[in-house]
Amino acid sequence: MARITLRQLLDHAAEHSYGVPAFNINNMEQGLAIMEAADAVDAPVIIQASRGARAYANDIVLKHLIDALAEMYPHIPICMHQDHGNNEATCATAIQFGFTSVMMDGSLKADGKTPADYGYNVAVTRAVVDMAHWVGASVEGELGVLGSLETGMGEKEDGHGFEGKLGHDQLLTDPDQAVDFVKATQVDALAIAMGTSHGAYKFTRRPDGDVLAMHVIEEIHARLPNTHLVMHGSSSVPQDLQDVINQYGGEMPQTWGVPVEEIQRGIKHGVRKINIDTDNRMAMTGAIRKVLAEKPGEFDPRAYLKPAKAAMSAVCKQRFLEFGCEGWASKIKPLSTAAMAKRYAAGELEAKIGVSRQAAE
Ligand SMILES: [Zn+2]
Repeated sequence: MARITLRQLLDHAAEHSYGVPAFNINNMEQGLAIMEAADAVDAPVIIQASRGARAYANDIVLKHLIDALAEMYPHIPICMHQDHGNNEATCATAIQFGFTSVMMDGSLKADGKTPADYGYNVAVTRAVVDMAHWVGASVEGELGVLGSLETGMGEKEDGHGFEGKLGHDQLLTDPDQAVDFVKATQVDALAIAMGTSHGAYKFTRRPDGDVLAMHVIEEIHARLPNTHLVMHGSSSVPQDLQDVINQYGGEMPQTWGVPVEEIQRGIKHGVRKINIDTDNRMAMTGAIRKVLAEKPGEFDPRAYLKPAKAAMSAVCKQRFLEFGCEGWASKIKPLSTAAMAKRYAAGELEAKIGVSRQAAE
């Protein structure tokens, strides 16, 4: 079956200048929606599960669900990724259940809400990198705390997110520190903080450079041209999805997400993984609200889950196209985690630091 590691997939994306959306999953309908979209445009897939999703769906169900999706679509490489791992154990058990990639989010302590210091982040991330690379799995780290530059607040996603208020020094990743972090931890991908936050309420107006600091991405990419950058909280929160929800009895206050053009700008500067959950949640909820509002006598879950799946699949397909994924799935030959483990052991995948060194080679 075509399971792929994050590292191999993002190396391919970097080579061909595209980005890959990472969609969150909690149930079968979301899994089918993602794969139908990927199949329609021949796009490689990153499916990610948070700790909340693993608890909701059960690790055994998730494992077999991903096996089933891989069996249904053997020509689509699937990376199964742990979203926001909070400690070594979460990452280790994810790999036990067939995940090919883990995020160790050491920007927060293991409780998932207390901002951690830099030394803690380096140590815990390095421990996960050592463990994961022995078995060929990939690791995403995070430097800087995700939260709003407008309010200084974070938004909890599945119970993960800081409490209280932080300053811009913690909410923006420092480019020099990013170099040091990648050197010290050898992560395969780096999530950075630059004003995106989780959930639907990211911005109170269409974001500009004051609240969405895309320049941070450009500065980090210039120093770390070979490190794959990850944008979290990057749903675009489209107006039409807000409108459907509100038209059929929902009460979502007006809000703005990350414009697709800004993500495309990021992809030009090293962004290879773009995390999207809210847009899919909204698409499903709007479709379900519509059915239940228009047909109050309906009680067959399939009557609303089928349009919900179709609405999510449409969002996924659109993002695959917008990020340049079309046509790549069939061109990738996934390496096993065992083969990747050998590449790490041979030193082939060590992080390359700095433009000057690359130029000198
Ligand atoms: Zn996130």
